[in-house]
Amino acid sequence: MGMLDRSVRSLLFVELLSGLRLTLGYMFRPKVTVNYPYEKGPLSPRFRGEHALRRYANGEERCIACKLCEAVCPAQAITIEAEPREDGSRRTTRYDIDMTKCIYCGLCQEACPVDAIVEGPNFEFAAETREELLYDKDKLLANGDRWEAEIAANLAADAPYR
Ligand code: SF4
Ligand code: SF4
Repeated sequence: MGMLDRSVRSLLFVELLSGLRLTLGYMFRPKVTVNYPYEKGPLSPRFRGEHALRRYANGEERCIACKLCEAVCPAQAITIEAEPREDGSRRTTRYDIDMTKCIYCGLCQEACPVDAIVEGPNFEFAAETREELLYDKDKLLANGDRWEAEIAANLAADAPYR
């Protein structure tokens, strides 16, 4: 572009006006941003968020202390201790996940034969201290109780593809 052309374009504010035209065009289109945290985008049923331990409808823990999740975890983030109950069923006495080690690979969920340990839809669990991210069984069961409806719906939606 010659010097004359550039001077004419500058004098006529061509760049400025074309920029304003672009801005005005976008002003009247649907917004692509969401007003987080008041609005949230859709999540896949396979989203791997905060862990939870689930119960059956009668309140019994699903986990049968097989330790497959502990064995498969590549980050060695899961620690389980177990002993038989008086009725002969096998249940955990300790189920810890060190969330600072977890890499959210989902292998624990895939390995579990009874859909007990799952990665739920919650992604808002940032903490201020490391200790808050050392989850124990009570915390994981509480997560399961809180998110059961969403977790069950996500598992049902994904079931045809498993
Ligand atoms: S998501 Fe992966 S890294 Fe995290 S606890 Fe489960 S198996 Fe371990
Ligand atoms: S959460 Fe599932 S895989 Fe892990 S010990 Fe319990 S039953 Fe086994």
